Amino acid sequence: FDDREQSQTETGPKGTVLRVPVVTTAPLGVLDYRWDNEMPPPEPGLIVEVPLGGRKVRGVIWHKASDQSGKKVSDAKLKSIEKLYDVPPLSEELLKLVAWVAAYTLSPLGSVLKMCLPVQAALEEGPSQTGVCWTADCAPPARMTHARQAVLDAAADGRVRTVPELAKTASVSDAVVRGLMKCRALQTTTIAADSPYGQPDISRHGPELSQEQTIAAEAIKNAVFTGGFAPFLLDGITGSGKTEVYFEGLAEALKTGGAQVLVLVPEIALTSQWLDRFHHRFGVRPVVWHSDVGQAERRRAWRQIATGEARVVVGARSALFLPFRHLAFITVDEEHDPSYKQEEGVLYHGRDMAVVRAKYAECPIVLASATPSMESLVNANSGRYVCLKLRERHGQAVLPDIHTIDMRKHPPAAGSWLSPKLKEAIDKRLFRHEQTMLFLNRRGYAPLTLCRTCGHRIECPNCSAWLVEHRFKHKLECHHCGHEIPVPEACPQCDTADSLVACGPGVERLFEEVNRDFPSARIGVMTSDTMESPTETATMVHQIAEGRLDIIIGTQIVTKGYHFPNLTLVGVIDADLGLRGGDLRAGERTYQQLEQVAGRAGRADKPGEVLLQSYEPDHPVITALANNDGEHLMRLEGEAREKLHMPPFGRLAALILSGPNQRTVMEQGRLLAVSAPASGSVQVYGPAPAPMARVRGNFRMRMLLHAHKGEPVQVIIRDWFGRTKMLPEVKVKVDIDPYSF
Ligand code: ADP
Ligand code: ZN
Repeated sequence: FDDREQSQTETGPKGTVLRVPVVTTAPLGVLDYRWDNEMPPPEPGLIVEVPLGGRKVRGVIWHKASDQSGKKVSDAKLKSIEKLYDVPPLSEELLKLVAWVAAYTLSPLGSVLKMCLPVQAALEEGPSQTGVCWTADCAPPARMTHARQAVLDAAADGRVRTVPELAKTASVSDAVVRGLMKCRALQTTTIAADSPYGQPDISRHGPELSQEQTIAAEAIKNAVFTGGFAPFLLDGITGSGKTEVYFEGLAEALKTGGAQVLVLVPEIALTSQWLDRFHHRFGVRPVVWHSDVGQAERRRAWRQIATGEARVVVGARSALFLPFRHLAFITVDEEHDPSYKQEEGVLYHGRDMAVVRAKYAECPIVLASATPSMESLVNANSGRYVCLKLRERHGQAVLPDIHTIDMRKHPPAAGSWLSPKLKEAIDKRLFRHEQTMLFLNRRGYAPLTLCRTCGHRIECPNCSAWLVEHRFKHKLECHHCGHEIPVPEACPQCDTADSLVACGPGVERLFEEVNRDFPSARIGVMTSDTMESPTETATMVHQIAEGRLDIIIGTQIVTKGYHFPNLTLVGVIDADLGLRGGDLRAGERTYQQLEQVAGRAGRADKPGEVLLQSYEPDHPVITALANNDGEHLMRLEGEAREKLHMPPFGRLAALILSGPNQRTVMEQGRLLAVSAPASGSVQVYGPAPAPMARVRGNFRMRMLLHAHKGEPVQVIIRDWFGRTKMLPEVKVKVDIDPYSF
């Protein structure tokens, strides 16, 4: 921070000047400001507005004020705090979390604090905001259209949104929403920041629990009752009732007046199904926090979480930084999910930071998964987490039978991606009016477009990546920077007409095949392209649950915690896909993903079957799936990683160097390599071209710091950077505990 920015002189009041240390939302550390004597005494956590470099920014008072906090700026040059917001101060616990995350991820305090103050409007009193919503009094419209149905599905969660917000979530024009308002299928209401949330009804009981469910639930309830930090790993197979078990913990926590609870879910797993279950159990809707929540609702949620009136929050990882007053219980559902890792801005892992928050809040935390991460398994084995196991599916349901189709022996016909065996199995389901899910983790029509004449492959001009054909949109698209072009008629290189061919399958191509081979089936495609908002996803999920679709084709978004009772077949088109990239976590990740997708089959009274198409049926991951022996696989994985001191038995930090000029990026890499730390227990590898060597026109190189457990990685990196010349044109980003390695 440049002191000169504070150089404007002020004629302050006589006597001593009270300095307060403030952290703003700018990517900086602590700055001193002058506290006006007329204001009430400063208190850590108070939210303020201060001038900074010609702008006004939000900030919080970081710790107690003093008259000599020892900063470089002289009293005379100190700027004043301009405004004090009338909201409860951020708790000490939250400030501790901010400090911890900043230190751990090597980010400026301000960048982390910014995540705690996401909505400016939340800080202002301001008038109520008007919006539309669906309530029980609304009547269905006399004339129903697809667009109208989409709006009603979008509004089914009862949240208040502005007309444009609702139209956008439903992907229709504003006029459709207005039409529904006119015929009273939607209501106009206002949301005041203080309109209260319904209070959960804790006198209600959940279902009667099985014996193993009871044991797990009792352990959690006891910990909640006693209070204090207590981490649990709830390791239960898909469909074993993990949700019912942690609901018991929630209910116990809510018995204490004023106590608040947080449930973290992967962003796209926050389904209407989950909300319906919650509503069924507690008689109200929880406060929902994720990227699709509108501004008015965010303001209301943030304020009432800060005052303690909002009791239950379910949200994506960003909910971790909400200003809870009295957090008494945290659950991280699907704790293994890679989407908990934030890959932009502050690079933190939501699950790990949730454990830190629980520590500061002194409350129990449950990490739930059918396929726990290696990190959590190791913590459970070492006794740091209490491990609770659920080994049976609820009721009559049993785990599906998993079979591998050896694609070397049963190859699909030319131009087809489904082996005859999988087709037969689909036919059987159609005949029995049961549902099939086909999983292929590849968006678009084909991953590569190639010229038959000259061999040219169509690449992104900004990234080292192929452009992916999206036939539904008639576009070729880059999945890294969003660059898109219309599908060319002729090869851009040799200009030969009709020479371009699509190589390899994506979900759209699979749809084409399934549509051709099963003409009578009703088919849905679930990818992030067809489901742009959680609401669109909810619509499709409803359709599936109500049996309006026979075959669902999807990417990884179908793996997330859904419960479709009539779904009895899961077909994995390319089980080897995730194993090819070859990073060290590939085995763990592929196993988790396929086990989760397999877990969608046979969740109710009809038995399920899973067919894995594989060219490597003897691969340990494939055999672990087929033999239903993930424990064994993870044990072998763990042993291998322990030998190599790889996470979680050792530490990694990835450095991504990027800039528009390749030479300077390489020069920075050379400088860092020359001054790199090296010892028996700390090694630096690279620089090497990053896995994506060019993104959005920037050249990228990667270095990897590998250290044995117990090494103070952050200190080592800070020292290292301190003695290295850092070039201003090159951005160096540090990713502590990178997800892939
Ligand atoms: P998981 O989260 O482990 O995948 P769920 O909690 O979604 O499992 O449970 C799967 C299904 O079984 C849900 O429909 C749930 O309501 C039902 N279920 C689980 N336990 C019970 C129980 N004890 N009594 C009645 N239904 C249960
Ligand atoms: Zn690109």
